[in-house]
Amino acid sequence: MSKTVLIVGSIALDTIENQKGKKEDLIGGSATYGMVAAGRLVPVNVVGVIGNDFPAEGLEIYQRYANSLVDLQCKEGNTFRWGARYGENMDSRETLFTDLGVFSDFSPRLSTVNKNVSTVFLANIHSALQLSVIDQMRGNPLIVTDTMNLWIETSKNELLEVLKKTDILLINESEAELISGTKDIDRSAVQLQSLGPSTVVIKRGSSGAVLFHGEERVSIDAYPVKEVIDTTGAGDTFGGGFVSALASGGTFRDALIKGSALASICVEGFGVESLLDVNLEEIKNREDFLRSVLYP
Ligand code: AMP
Repeated sequence: MSKTVLIVGSIALDTIENQKGKKEDLIGGSATYGMVAAGRLVPVNVVGVIGNDFPAEGLEIYQRYANSLVDLQCKEGNTFRWGARYGENMDSRETLFTDLGVFSDFSPRLSTVNKNVSTVFLANIHSALQLSVIDQMRGNPLIVTDTMNLWIETSKNELLEVLKKTDILLINESEAELISGTKDIDRSAVQLQSLGPSTVVIKRGSSGAVLFHGEERVSIDAYPVKEVIDTTGAGDTFGGGFVSALASGGTFRDALIKGSALASICVEGFGVESLLDVNLEEIKNREDFLRSVLYP
C-alpha cells in the first residue's frame, strides 16, 4: 500500500504576537505545518490555494516538503492571512483577524492521482472544503480530520457530515467540549465516537494528548520543552506527525509519539522555523524519550 498522504488545509501568512515578540507574515496555515511535519517521513500531496503574493520563501518550503503540488492552486489575489495575540501562558489566544483572501472562493479539485491516495489528512479548514475532498476520493481511504472552534460554531452541519465519514478525529480539549457539552474527556470521547470516528485523539496542549479507540485509552505527555517560543501550529504539526506514522505502517502509539515529538519542536520557534531547522537525530532522541515514558 502506498505511504502517500493527501493533505488539505489552510496555507497562510500569519501575524503572531506573544510574550516573546511579534512576527508578521510568517509562512503558516494548517496544511503548511501538517506538510512540514509529515513530509520527512512520507510523500505528501497538497490540496490548497495561495495568492500571487505568496513569497518565494514559502514556495521553497512547499517545493522541498511536498511530493506533489498538482492540486495546489495559485490564484490572483491575497493569500489567506491570520493574526493572533497570545495570553501570558501561551495556552490562551485571541484571533485578531482572519482575511480569507483567495480562500473565500476556493473549491478543491482533485486530480486522478490524488483521488486514489489511501490516507487523507483533513487539516483545519472550512468543513465544506473537507467534505468536498472526502466526496472526491475513490476507494476507502483512511480519513483523519482536525477542526477548530470557528467551524464548530459556524458550519456545524457540514462538520457533522465530515465526522460521519471520518475514521480518526484529532481535536483540542476545548473544541471537544464545545461539541460534546462535557469537560470530562472520557465522556467527551464517547460522544464524539458516536458521531462517526472510531478513534478520537483529544489534544491537551502542554498536558499532552489522549487517544481513544474501542476499549483502548492511551495517554501521552508532552515532551518537556526548555523554552516555549510560539505554540502556533503545534496541533497541526502533531496531526502531520501522527498521520505520517500511521501511513508508514506505525501503530497508534507510534503515531502519538511522532506527533508529540514534532509538536515539541514546533513550539521552540516562531512559525515553522524550528521544524525546518531540526535534524533527524533530535527528532529520534525525543521519540526515544517519549517511548520510554509510554513503555516504562
Ligand atoms: P493551531 O495553532 O494548531 O491551531 O494552528 C494555527 C494555524 O491555523 C495558523 O497557521 C493559521 O494560519 C491557521 N488558521 C487559523 N485560523 C484558521 C481558519 N479559520 N481556517 C484555517 N486555518 C486557520
